[in-house]
Amino acid sequence: MKMRTMNIKKHTPQRTCIACREVKDKRELMRLIRVHSGGVEIDTSGKKVGRGAYLCCTAECWENGLKQGKLERALRTSLSKNNREQLIRDGKTFCKELIGGKSK
Ligand SMILES: [Zn+2]
Repeated sequence: MKMRTMNIKKHTPQRTCIACREVKDKRELMRLIRVHSGGVEIDTSGKKVGRGAYLCCTAECWENGLKQGKLERALRTSLSKNNREQLIRDGKTFCKELIGGKSK
């Protein structure tokens, strides 16, 4: 008997993670935007206006993106120490399942 593939894919926008450069469904990535103050925040709605960048919901990509300056380069801004720490905290809040997964 043949396996029936359940491949009813809708057109999901694809985005590239700025840390690992993998292309994924927009929904699997977390959107970060540059705000007016020059800082960066997480856009959980995905609808905020502004220059945006995407990161996978993995600890690796958050660390690479935030600590190696990839996010800053992608958004053409610079992160303050507080902003960076805030984003790492927020990332852990919003991407709980994936980021907390390994350590538990
Ligand atoms: Zn990634």
